[in-house]
This record gives sequence, C-alpha cells and structure tokens, in this order.
Amino acid sequence: MECIFCKIVSKEIPADVVYEDDKIIAFKDIHPVAPVHLLIIPKIHIPSIDHLELKDKTLIGELFLTAQKIAREKGVDKTGYRLTFNIGKDAGQTVDHLHLHLIGGKELPWL
Ligand code: 5GP
Ligand code: ZN
Repeated sequence: MECIFCKIVSKEIPADVVYEDDKIIAFKDIHPVAPVHLLIIPKIHIPSIDHLELKDKTLIGELFLTAQKIAREKGVDKTGYRLTFNIGKDAGQTVDHLHLHLIGGKELPWL
C-alpha cells in the first residue's frame, strides 16, 4: 500500500491526530500554512472529489460536520476559517487520498 494517508489511517506512520471515529480521521498538516491547519480524511481510500460516487454522499457530509466540530474546538468558528479540497494538478493536489483542509487562526489571503 503506497498511499501515505492510508498509512496514517492504519497507524503505520505517525500523525498528530485531533479526531478519529470509525469512518474519519483528522490530523495536523505536517507543513502548516496557518496556526490551525488540519486535514480531515475518510478512512477509505478515495483519490479525490473527482472520484466520489453516490454511495459516498453521507461520508462527505460527515467530513464537513467533523470540520465544523473541530473548528469549534479550536475556536476558529469565532474568527473564521477556510475549508478546501484541492483536486488534481492545477489545484496543487499532492496526496491522492481525498482530504479536506481546515485552515484558520489568522486572516487568510485569497489566492
Ligand atoms: P494537497 O496539496 O494534496 O491538497 O495537500 C496535501 C497536504 O498534506 C499538504 O498540505 C502537506 O503538507 C500534507 N502532508 C503531506 N504528507 C504528510 C504527512 O506525511 N503527514 C502529514 N501530517 N501531512 C502531510
Ligand atoms: Zn489512501
């Protein structure tokens, strides 16, 4: 299994985990771009949003609700935060395991 995020799910490589349940895990980005920079991922391997199927629709909703919950725990719900999926080359996707970036804790430039 080559996928680095699948290895984080299976605990083959360590991560700073902030949330975990049976379907989702969230951990700190190794190269944070803001004081709060977390990655929220499904435990099953889906390469990107472009690979989503109808059967995944509940899971994707749960990713967003998990982001909301973590944002509240980190206090950035008060100041604002950004949720981002990068999809493919032009968006700069570097890990081909679907991940939702939760970024906040400072004013964020837009592109
Ligand atoms: P992308 O550019 O694909 O949207 O985001 C991938 C993110 O994963 C990057 O922000 C990068 O810093 C992060 N990342 C890559 N490898 C690792 C790792 O092994 N551990 C953690 N915690 N984050 C990683
Ligand atoms: Zn994977």
